[in-house]
Amino acid sequence: MYPEKLELLINGEWCQGSEGKSEPVINPATEEVLAEVPHASVSDLDRALQASAEGFKVWRATSPLQRQAVIEKAASLMQERIDDIARTLTMEMGKPFGESKVEIGFVIDVARWYGEEGKRAYGRLVPSRFPGARQMVVKEPVGPACAFVAWNFPGTNVIRKIAGALGAGCSIIIKPSEETPGTAVAIARCFQDAGLPPGTLNVVFGVPGEVSSHILASSIPRKVSFTGSIPVGKHLLKLSADTLKRCTMELGGHAPVVVFDDADIEKTLNTLAVFKFRNAGQVCISPTRFYVQDKSYKAFVEGFTERAKAVKVGNGMDDGIEMGPLIADRRLDVMDEFVADAKDHGASITTGGERMGNQGYFYSPTVLSDVPDDARIMVDEPFGPLAPITHFNSFDEVVERANSLPFGLASYVFTSDGGKAAKIEDALDAGLVGVNHPGVATPETPFGGVNESGYGSEGGIEGLDAFLRTKFITEVGV
Ligand code: NAD
Repeated sequence: MYPEKLELLINGEWCQGSEGKSEPVINPATEEVLAEVPHASVSDLDRALQASAEGFKVWRATSPLQRQAVIEKAASLMQERIDDIARTLTMEMGKPFGESKVEIGFVIDVARWYGEEGKRAYGRLVPSRFPGARQMVVKEPVGPACAFVAWNFPGTNVIRKIAGALGAGCSIIIKPSEETPGTAVAIARCFQDAGLPPGTLNVVFGVPGEVSSHILASSIPRKVSFTGSIPVGKHLLKLSADTLKRCTMELGGHAPVVVFDDADIEKTLNTLAVFKFRNAGQVCISPTRFYVQDKSYKAFVEGFTERAKAVKVGNGMDDGIEMGPLIADRRLDVMDEFVADAKDHGASITTGGERMGNQGYFYSPTVLSDVPDDARIMVDEPFGPLAPITHFNSFDEVVERANSLPFGLASYVFTSDGGKAAKIEDALDAGLVGVNHPGVATPETPFGGVNESGYGSEGGIEGLDAFLRTKFITEVGV
């Protein structure tokens, strides 16, 4: 049974939409309807906006130590409820239950990290050029915030916004994905049950374009944070321009993986095959363009293919499953289009390349070799279990090819040569570089892209700073 009751959270109260509208939530592994997610009406959104303005006054006046105590209580409640939250996550999103539990563990870590870091929103004193003057730089919460997030990490995407805002002293209205609402509701319940003041956290659902245009037209939110696709990010930026909101944009990428001949190929394959098929490749930092140096190319393709064939695909609630379905049937069509286009461009499919079964949105772990740079899959983010592999000869050539797209989120390098690693770390046009391991996302380190992958960071001291503004105060004679 789907454990979560789906409701909106407005001004500290759980409710249905005032116009009674809703949409079904589908289990992507079984195509069953799990529940109905309520849609907020325009008047519900206006109440949420007003509540966030009032909630902000209360929360910003709450000391960082008291805020941390509430966030810590919410984190403890999430820990107590982890099995139920992870079950909700798997049922609505599809990833294996074990992966869902790891995700909720990460959610708890992020909450704790921001709660603690909120105590350290330090300013500074600057020596003055005016005799007797004291010059102070202080950090204060930016104001009520709003956030819109995608379905691929129903917990992580949500907590990075909620905990970042609350840790900094902001209130927030969040619109999680309508495809994965239950995880967000379960997390929000932990915050409410922990004693968060009414209006500090508001959760709404609806038709995404309608909700975001209404909320962003209001001058109440002073900050918007979005995780999702590049076209939607650009659209939200335009909507935010009229009221000049501060923006954090965590958008898509197309992560190059550079494997040099001097890398330990077996270790590299073991790391990359697991990482590629995690969450069925629906990860903004998923490795998506594999450049392997000439001498290792053949062995790499064979080894990757073997490992892809061994991935156990199925319903994420079943034991031993390593990869679940895609989020929706629209994504199966997109995978087929990528594969057909790659074939037309001369690529070979060494395994996979098709839908699996006829119930649930399963797509086979797919490896494509000899993929030319102008195939669509080397240009557009695949966001699925597809691994296109090509080869390269020289350092300069691979850097140029890796940097050839407008995106710049994650990038990965495998080499045993420290000098080469240092040189390519500098050369890659990306916000994140992982050398010999993929650990580029932790609560305590900045996570974010450059160029069309967006701007602003989540995590690290930068993640807290995204919800703070700077005030300069100078005083004399007091
Ligand atoms: P999509 O762009 O239609 O939707 C992505 C998310 O954005 C959804 O959760 C949706 O609710 C939200 N959204 C869409 N329009 C919105 C609007 N006008 N206002 C506010 N929110 C809005 O894409 P999709 O088909 O669901 O997913 C596939 C693509 O999305 C992929 O190609 C990938 O690039 C991107 N994506 C990126 C991330 C990420 O972490 N960067 C996450 C999920 C999806």
